[in-house]
Amino acid sequence: MAKYVGPVCRICRREGVKMYLKGDRCFTAKCAIETRNHIPGQHGQQQRKKLSNYGVQLREKQKLRRIYGLTEKQFRNCFDKASLQKGASGENFLILLERRLDNVIFRLGLADSRKEARQIVRHGHITVDGKKVDIPSYLIKVGQVVAVREKSKTSPLFVELLESAKNKKAPAWIEADYEKIQGRIIGLPAREDIDTQVDELLIVEFYSK
Ligand code: SF4
Repeated sequence: MAKYVGPVCRICRREGVKMYLKGDRCFTAKCAIETRNHIPGQHGQQQRKKLSNYGVQLREKQKLRRIYGLTEKQFRNCFDKASLQKGASGENFLILLERRLDNVIFRLGLADSRKEARQIVRHGHITVDGKKVDIPSYLIKVGQVVAVREKSKTSPLFVELLESAKNKKAPAWIEADYEKIQGRIIGLPAREDIDTQVDELLIVEFYSK
């Protein structure tokens, strides 16, 4: 399925929840969920329909996919990988999504959104253990150090992003060092470390059909 390139706030309105896709704007009164929380389109202002079980599972799957900004193929591949691991598939799936390099950059506060983080990685601004990595889906491992490339540190983009990053809090599984503009992965996240508001069991059920 092709990547969605329309207005980002429409995605949140479709699901009826804030998905924090636009950085700082999401925390202001300008957020579209605050101003017009109804389904986009001509009949959107009508009450949301009661969904079937399948519909509930589908919406939950779409919500999570859109939060992390993946195509259906990327999302499904990640789910399949999680299913092969030992333990609860839903939890493993969330942990795999969190381990993506673009997500780590976002969690470190070095990007306002996962979309921006993806761009930063693709443009070659990021290193892992000193080596340039420009693959957003790269899965980080415990002990690795994710940093902004030396050449990029003085770019106006990072000077600005770093200022706002200092006001954010990196999750417990990443040890942030904003002097060096880097983060060390000190452990893999547990479910309680992941603040994504989603019921992963519904997604497991959706893909188990
Ligand atoms: Fe979603 Fe952010 Fe737009 Fe609000 S401002 S609707 S949270 S993307």
